[in-house]
Amino acid sequence: MQAFAYGKASDIVEALAEASAPDTVFLAGGTELLNWLRLGIVKPARVIDIGRLEGLTGVSRLPDGGLHIGALTRLNDVALDDDVARDYPVLSEAILQSASAQLRNLATVGGNPLQKTRCGYFRSEAILPCNKRWPGSGCSALHGFNDKHAIFGWSQACVATQPSDPANALAALDAVYVTDHRDGSRRIKAEDLHRLPGETPHIENTLRDGELIVGIELPGPAPHSAYLKLRERQSYEYAVVSAAVALDLQGDSIRRASIALGGVAHKPWRLVEAELALAGIVLGDAPAIRKALDTSFATARPLTHNAYKVPLAKNAAERAIRLAAARGS
Ligand SMILES: Cc1cc2nc3c(=O)[nH]c(=O)nc-3n(C[C@H](O)[C@H](O)[C@H](O)COP(=O)(O)OP(=O)(O)OC[C@H]3O[C@@H](n4cnc5c(N)ncnc54)[C@H](O)[C@@H]3O)c2cc1C
Ligand code: SF4
Repeated sequence: MQAFAYGKASDIVEALAEASAPDTVFLAGGTELLNWLRLGIVKPARVIDIGRLEGLTGVSRLPDGGLHIGALTRLNDVALDDDVARDYPVLSEAILQSASAQLRNLATVGGNPLQKTRCGYFRSEAILPCNKRWPGSGCSALHGFNDKHAIFGWSQACVATQPSDPANALAALDAVYVTDHRDGSRRIKAEDLHRLPGETPHIENTLRDGELIVGIELPGPAPHSAYLKLRERQSYEYAVVSAAVALDLQGDSIRRASIALGGVAHKPWRLVEAELALAGIVLGDAPAIRKALDTSFATARPLTHNAYKVPLAKNAAERAIRLAAARGS
């Protein structure tokens, strides 16, 4: 591990000022960052501990009926909050299926979406070609072990997937990340936080250097919502494929569907075409639902070892729609 300077910020102004120095990273729960430091994935000059900043924890109701979640709220505190569990089951379920109870007691809801890919080449202690870790070195997974990698939106430079479960739920909920920076604050739609790899897979999200996520806003309640996570073992494991679904129902029909898949792309992957095709479909019409989902899989591009993800993801989305429809009734 490379030595770094450590500092603690006591308020947001101080955190933003400290973060204006080059090569500085924030430390929230530290459950991801400390692994990166140990593996040499990041080598910052300075680490600013934001873990105890005032005013960035807790869940509160917004005037429009939505919810505000402070970025430093621990994952378990979000998932077990009464309003979140009742009104946004997709988020509560996504969190409770993430990591372990011990990790969720430490990890924050603002740090979670910023975790890095689980691609084995990227995390390897051996030096292997990986454009995300060493830009320009190549991608070992493109023609190597790629059974866990992307089927949508990948490039020749990188075929990795993003691993956060809550990020998928937040994308399906049309949530917004609220940020602060020395040049001003911003609102970033959840589905726009992560980037596709393109030619620069080492640039993973749309945050500026030194930009702090201060909170997450959820629109009005989504009681008909659900998270389905498929993994190789039933606990303490990342998703092979997951589906976050939020439905707006009118009687037995779908008025509006919102679907974000995990484990299939470098970002939560919204099924935009399927969402449009599902509008007006009766919940009992399984063939129509499957046909609507097919419209989004026309652009799937599986790699040598992950064609199984196409039917798996389609079935996950269909099952999550059924789970979401059964909720809140
Ligand atoms: C063994 C293991 C299993 C796991 N399994 C899962 C899983 O199944 N599903 C899942 O979703 N996650 C899983 N995780 C990931 C875990 O949930 C994340 O490590 C955690 O949520 C990160 O939050 P943190 O507060 O600890 O972030 P940190 O480690 O403190 O920070 C992570 C990154 O985010 C940045 N950051 C943190 N907070 C902010 C902020 N407010 N604004 C701007 N930048 C910020 C940091 O600078 C750093 O770059 C697992 C982790 C481990 C170790
Ligand atoms: S998929 Fe991305 S992270 Fe994995 S080896 Fe290729 S470039 Fe690296």
